[in-house]
Amino acid sequence: MFQKSLLELAEGLRRKAYSSVELTTAFLDRIRQHDGVLNAFITVPEQRALADARAADQRLARGEGGVLTGIPVAHKDLFCTQGIKTSCGSRMLDSFVAPYNAAVIERFDAAGAVLLGKTNMDEFAMGSSNENSFYGPVRNPWDTDAVPGGSSGGSAAAVAARLCPAATGTDTGGSVRQPASLCGITGLKPTYGRISRWGMVAYASSLDQAGVLTRNAEDAALMLGVIAGFDPRDSTSVDRPVPDYVAGLSAPFPGLRIGLPKEYFGPGLDPEVARLVTQAVDELQRLGADVREISLPNTALAIPAYYVVAPAEASSNLARYDGVRFGHRCEDPQNLHDLYSRSRAEGFGAEVKRRIMIGTYALSAGYYDAYYLKAQKVRRLIRDDFARAFESVDVILGPTAPTPAFDIGAKADDPVTMYLSDIYTISANLAGLPGISVPCGFVAGRPVGFQVIGPHFEESRLLNLAHHYQQHTDWHLRAPNLD
Ligand code: GLN
Repeated sequence: MFQKSLLELAEGLRRKAYSSVELTTAFLDRIRQHDGVLNAFITVPEQRALADARAADQRLARGEGGVLTGIPVAHKDLFCTQGIKTSCGSRMLDSFVAPYNAAVIERFDAAGAVLLGKTNMDEFAMGSSNENSFYGPVRNPWDTDAVPGGSSGGSAAAVAARLCPAATGTDTGGSVRQPASLCGITGLKPTYGRISRWGMVAYASSLDQAGVLTRNAEDAALMLGVIAGFDPRDSTSVDRPVPDYVAGLSAPFPGLRIGLPKEYFGPGLDPEVARLVTQAVDELQRLGADVREISLPNTALAIPAYYVVAPAEASSNLARYDGVRFGHRCEDPQNLHDLYSRSRAEGFGAEVKRRIMIGTYALSAGYYDAYYLKAQKVRRLIRDDFARAFESVDVILGPTAPTPAFDIGAKADDPVTMYLSDIYTISANLAGLPGISVPCGFVAGRPVGFQVIGPHFEESRLLNLAHHYQQHTDWHLRAPNLD
C-alpha cells in the first residue's frame, strides 16, 4: 500500500480493503522504522493521527467524505497546527504550540485527511539543503550521504521514502520544486495568491507560497484542488474560481508551445542534468509539443535581487521573535535590551542571523534606495521577461536545479554556492508564477527533475503536461530501496 497513489488509496478505503486506522497505522510503523535515519519528521502526533483516522472511518462508513478522507498527509512544520508544536525548524519556536490552524490545515481537516506529522525543514525556510534545521539535517532516501534539498526537505524525503502518501511544503525561492527534484518526486508551487498564507509562518511575504509534494501530477492536482481558493484573512489571496485540476489532467496535449530559455542551459548546469532534461524535452516533442528556444535575459539578476528582497522581508517578519510575546526566552534577563538580544542570539541559527543582518542593512536609511528599491526594479524586469516570453510560448521548461543532490556538508560553509542551487527556481517566485518539478532520471543513483513554469493561474497547464509525460515514462514510479 506504500506504493499507491492518492486515488488508489482512496479507492481502497471505499472498497474496505483497509480502514483509515489501518492505513495510518501502517504509515506510522513505517515512520518508526525509517525516520531514525532520514530525520524527515519533527513531530509525529500518533494519537491525534489515529483520532483523525477513526473520525474519517466513521465518515466513510456513512458514505460521506471526498477523495482525501482518511488519507494521511504530512505538513511542513511551518503551517500552524492547533495543539501540536509548530517549530519552523528553529530553536526559537521549539516550544511554540499554535492556538489555531493555518488555512491550509483547516482545508485538509475539512476534507477529512489525517494529519500524520510535521516535517523537518530549514530554519524559517531559509536554505536549499535542509542542513539549517535546529532538529538536524534530513537525509535523502536515495542516498543517505546526500541532502534532500530544502527548505521543504523533510516533506520531500518523506514522500520519496513512502513515509507518507503526500505532503505540503512552501516555496519562497524554490523550496518545493528543488527538494522535489533532488528526491525524485513531483513538486508544485502554485501562483502567488492561489493558496492562503494565513497561519503559515512568514519568511518573505511577497514571495512565500504553499505548495504540494506528491508521487505524481495527478496527486498534485488532487491536493491543489483541496487547498486552492480565496481566503479573506490573507490580503494577498486572490478571489478567482478554482478550476477542476483533476479534470484538466486529460485535456489534449498536442500543439503545446514549450519555450527553452537559453539562459537555463548555460554554464553552471551539470552536463548529465542537461542530458536528462533534453531527453525529457525529446519525449514531450514526440507527444506533440512544439519546442523552441527563448530568452529570459535578466535571469542572472534573479539571485542577487532575491537575496536583497527575501532577507529584507525576513528581517521585518522575524522582528516579532523578541522573547516577549512568543518564542524562546533567555534565562535571567538583566534588562529589556539583554532580553531581546540574548533571546534572539540563542533562538536563531547562523543562516537566519545572516539573513536578518543582510536584510536590516538593505532596509536601513541611506541604503534602501541602493538595495531594496533597486532589487524591486530588477524584479520588475524579471517579471517583464516572462510576460514577453509568454506572448510566444505556453510554458517554459528547463532544469529544476543545476545539479543532482550534493553530499551533506559539501556546500555548508559556502553560502553563495548554496544560493546558486535555486538559480532556475527563484525567478518564478520573483514573478509570482506557478512552477512544477517532474522527475526525469538519475545521475549516479540520485534523482533529477525538470521544471515547467506557466503564466499566472495556469496550474492546470503545468499539471496537464506533467501528467502526459508521466503516462509515457516511469521515473515517478521509482522508489528508493530503504533496506
Ligand atoms: N533556498 C532559498 C532560500 O534559502 C529558497 C528557500 C525557500 O524557497 N523557502 O531562501
